[in-house]
Amino acid sequence: MSGPINAFEMAQKQFDAVAKQLKLDSGVAETLRWPMREYSFRIPVRMEDGSLKVFQGFRVQHNDARGPNKGGIRFHPAETLDTVRALATWMTWKCAVADIPLGGGKGGVIVDPSTLTVNEKEAVCRGWVRAMWKNIGPRNDVPAPDVGTTPQMMGWMMDEYSHLVGQYTPGVFTGKPVGGGGSLGRTEATGFGVVYNIREAMKHLKMDPKKSVASVQGFGNVAQYAAIGFIEILGGTVECVSCYDRHSKKAYTYSKKGGIDPHFLISIVDEYGTIDKAKAQDSGYAVEEGDAWISKEVDVLIPAALEGQINADTAPRISKRVKLIAEGANGPTTPEADEIIKKNKIFDIPDFLCNSGGVTTSYFEQVQNDMNFYWSKAEVLEKLDQKITSAFNSVLERSEKEKIYMRDSAYMVAIDRVVKAMELRGWLTGNA
Ligand code: NAD
Repeated sequence: MSGPINAFEMAQKQFDAVAKQLKLDSGVAETLRWPMREYSFRIPVRMEDGSLKVFQGFRVQHNDARGPNKGGIRFHPAETLDTVRALATWMTWKCAVADIPLGGGKGGVIVDPSTLTVNEKEAVCRGWVRAMWKNIGPRNDVPAPDVGTTPQMMGWMMDEYSHLVGQYTPGVFTGKPVGGGGSLGRTEATGFGVVYNIREAMKHLKMDPKKSVASVQGFGNVAQYAAIGFIEILGGTVECVSCYDRHSKKAYTYSKKGGIDPHFLISIVDEYGTIDKAKAQDSGYAVEEGDAWISKEVDVLIPAALEGQINADTAPRISKRVKLIAEGANGPTTPEADEIIKKNKIFDIPDFLCNSGGVTTSYFEQVQNDMNFYWSKAEVLEKLDQKITSAFNSVLERSEKEKIYMRDSAYMVAIDRVVKAMELRGWLTGNA
């Protein structure tokens, strides 16, 4: 991809295109192309060397017509208000397409978390909550982890909020550790959600999952469980996975005759998703440098690493055998690549439908927190399967009916649902 991308301009462009197709009233469109509320604040932290450092924090609440805002908090040195606005907007559509009663939010702090000590990290987390506590809560905005934040950090944030409001309130943050208010099944949720989507798509495409072969980009949380699910839930074969090697700063694709064993690879991957190359080679894995995963002769591609990976340069290298792309990552396909995918009649499951298993299980976590009653892992995954199956089929139905690409259909389903909620609440009459 060339030139810096302003994510919020991209989110608005995508919205404008669908608003036009839906013939949305211009005032309604104007309401939805901007977040409803934005917070920008400073977090002073006494560092361990005695100095006082001030961090910039954000929270954006895009739209809460369908329920409390929901979305992660990123700790990243390149965080900007526009990135947070874009991510908050996409969360509104993701929650709506998954049909969970939540809106869209996102937060951030401009910081590289790897430069902080544990105590400093905790101080930034607690400072974020002290700045925002009056404007978040289980009934108005529920943050979660994202890039650079962890379940432990959510535990600290929930604790700070509980102190400030004077009562234990686990439902204010999700993605907490299991045993500290977290839900069983959250670890598997996004990857298994990808697999439930693939299963439904295969029924539609009349593909036999047992005879299907997949190629996966990434080997972090989403990719690991997508690979396990593809093999153990669908009975298919995963020819390869890939990762970015932190040590050599290169990407590698790992494949094995007859298919990879994700459990073995999990035993030799580090917490950042880098596979131990020497150990893999010792166990008979073939290792190719670069992005070989994209040109494999397979039936299914699962990009589950990062954005922009299927683009104008890489899309022409996709094998003619590929019938299905399941977008586990956020934004893996550029608009230019979308055109190539459409032309080659490859069925694409768009990111905000395909990876909605994570936020759906976060919603389940909040429900369990509110009830103070916790479900088994099997119960969580069964409910997740029902939600994903129904979300996939609503999007497919509209795409078939209106003969449109799945991504456009997912946007239409989501935007219609949000507009309907705004109508039902009287927001569009001007009296609310
Ligand atoms: P992660 O950090 O656990 O793993 C990322 C993986 O991608 C690592 O294995 C890394 O080595 C690999 N990678 C990075 N660059 C690569 C490259 N150039 N080629 C090949 N591999 C590369 O992240 P994750 O949580 O698995 O998230 C992956 C994607 O899914 C992101 O886009 C994320 O926003 C999205 N997502 C995650 C969740 C979730 O619940 N974890 C939910 C929704 C969406």
